[in-house]
Amino acid sequence: VIALSDVSLTLGQGASSVHVLKGVSLEVLRGETAGIVGPSGSGKSTLLMVVAGLEKVDGGTVSIAGNVINGWSEDQIAAFRGKTVGIVFQSFHLIPNMTALENVAVPLELAGHPDPFAVAERELAAVGLRDRVTHYPGELSGGEQQRVAIARALAPDPQILIADEPTGNLDQITGKQIADLLFAKARERNMTLMLVTHDPSLAARCSRQIAMRSGRIEDAAETAPVRVPAE
Ligand code: ATP
Ligand code: MG
Repeated sequence: VIALSDVSLTLGQGASSVHVLKGVSLEVLRGETAGIVGPSGSGKSTLLMVVAGLEKVDGGTVSIAGNVINGWSEDQIAAFRGKTVGIVFQSFHLIPNMTALENVAVPLELAGHPDPFAVAERELAAVGLRDRVTHYPGELSGGEQQRVAIARALAPDPQILIADEPTGNLDQITGKQIADLLFAKARERNMTLMLVTHDPSLAARCSRQIAMRSGRIEDAAETAPVRVPAE
């Protein structure tokens, strides 16, 4: 469960400071898929970063999987995030001088996983890349790179998957395949999926749509889950 209560956040200093989140309250349950939509600059990416613990809030509380993470140290958050929240970005963010296999395995290895390469191989196979494990990102198509990024995000078996415009750099057909993969994985593993998209058809596939505008959730009715919790 993701629960934000009256979260506010200002980014930047002095003349360039922006009040990015202005009292955001939101609850997303395990197994829900939430699609965040809204104009450019409305705070969608920042909201995801808050959920990932990558941005600290100035006010309010951030509770992720039962842990109130605001107030935690960077180290505490980093250790927690690895296992709890997987992240997928629009521009893939793979490490260019590592193979697909290494891109998935090395973060696991750094986190002290006992068998990172076996897990990485399994995760890459599960996203359809069994025959691309020794390829470098530059030798992969955009869709394949995003599959590697998804395998990397899923490898620690997180409860929550967040995706910032995961299909934004892909053509329509490839984007649909990547969206299919994200929804299939979320269902298979009973994950919470929170994604940001400018594609209305992708947002419509989510169990909930949440519209942001100028640092606020537009409709208060969107902040609450629509179905009765299963847990
Ligand atoms: P887009 O759809 O274009 O990706 P978004 O809804 O994801 O937009 P955010 O990236 O969350 O928007 O940014 C929200 C606002 O915060 C923007 O106006 C941006 O300029 C501002 N902002 C983000 N990071 C900083 C920063 N480090 N310093 C100052 N302002 C920032
Ligand atoms: Mg954004």
